[in-house]
This record gives sequence, C-alpha cells and structure tokens, in this order.
Amino acid sequence: MAAEASILVVEDEKVISNFLRTVLAAHDYSVLHAATGSEAVSMAASYSPSLMLLDLGLPDIDGMHVLSSVRGWSDMPVIIVSARQDEYEKVAALDAGANDYVTKPFGNSELLARIRTALRQHDKMSGYRMESRFTSGGFVIDYVKRLVSVDHRDVHLTPIEYKIMVMLCRNAGKVLTHDAIIREIWGPFASDTQVLRVNMANIRRKIERNPADPQYILTEVGVGYRMTEADGD
Ligand code: CA
Repeated sequence: MAAEASILVVEDEKVISNFLRTVLAAHDYSVLHAATGSEAVSMAASYSPSLMLLDLGLPDIDGMHVLSSVRGWSDMPVIIVSARQDEYEKVAALDAGANDYVTKPFGNSELLARIRTALRQHDKMSGYRMESRFTSGGFVIDYVKRLVSVDHRDVHLTPIEYKIMVMLCRNAGKVLTHDAIIREIWGPFASDTQVLRVNMANIRRKIERNPADPQYILTEVGVGYRMTEADGD
C-alpha cells in the first residue's frame, strides 16, 4: 500500500463518522471528514483524496449527486456506505461509477479489505499494467492464449462465457452489477438478466467444484457478481 493514502469520509451521523475515523487512522490512513454533500464535493476537489467513503443519505444533497459531481472530473475510488433498505440505490450508485459498497452495519475487516481492493485496482488502472494472465487458487485464465483452466484441467467456454470471465477477472475483487455486465457483453440496449443468469450457471458448472457453493465467482444478492481476488494480491 502506498504510504499515507488519504480517505475522505462523507457521513453525517457523528457516531459512525467517529468510528470510521478511528478505524482508518489506526490503519495509517490520513482521514478527512465531510458531514454534508456540498462539503464533500468541495473537499474532494481541494484535497483530491485517494478514496472517498460515501454515505448515500446526507442532509443537504443526495449522495448520488455527490458521486456524479465527483465523477465529472475525478476517477478516485468511491465506496458507498449504504443502509440495508437502500438496495436499489446501491445498484444505481455502482452503475453511476461507484467502485464498491459496504452495507451498515459492517465490520472493520470487511471495510478495510474493500478499501485496499479499491486502492489497488485504482493503482493498477493508472499504471496501465495489463496482466497477460490471472490466477486465483486453481483457476487460471490466459488472456493471450485465450485459455481457461481449473486445477490443470482445460475448461471449454463459449465465446460469450469467455467474455464474461475476462470482464470478471479484469475486475477481480470488485462487484459488477448485472446491468454493467449485460451492457458490456450484449451491448447498451440489452437488459435480459435471465440470459446472464443462464450463462453464469453454465460457467459455474464448468469452473466451480461445487456450483452451489462457488469459490471463484461470488454472488452479491440483488446486485451482481464478484470474482475472488488474484493470488498474491
Ligand atoms: Ca446518513
């Protein structure tokens, strides 16, 4: 991890923001805090933090507006902090460019893991480091040879299944919404989640030891899918 990553905590509830500041400071992040949406936008602009933790329910402007405003000029990772009843908003935020989300109440280790993943992915993107292969446990995808194997056994994927796997692996550790995957694979006007579900079931049958308890492609209920992170990350 780069030393002194700074995190902008956007949260109006004092108890939660104090908790977040304590946890983050204890893990060597420098912490900025905004209690309103407009404060968040101006602090993001003046300090350009490494990452933003964004509560969606703010007293002045909606967290979604903060997100779209920041996305107008910055690609800093944004992790949404959402309440359990905000399922729809969470998906909308991911589709509007949020990198990830945590749902209240969340544990420290979950939050810190999400932050590390988002920062690492951002570093990779800005370094334009295109890996030629991805490995996680017994799963290997070789982008150059277009080969997929599990536990040294070749896996035969259809062209669509392969495209889905490339997208998941390139974004390993990050949740991808159903809509984001469908748009990327089938184009901007596609919206059939059933076709995606069928493809995912087929992929899982081919790569998972137990498709009912997947170890590689995890389901985020009501949101989308998340590929487990690469080895060594
Ligand atoms: Ca709030």
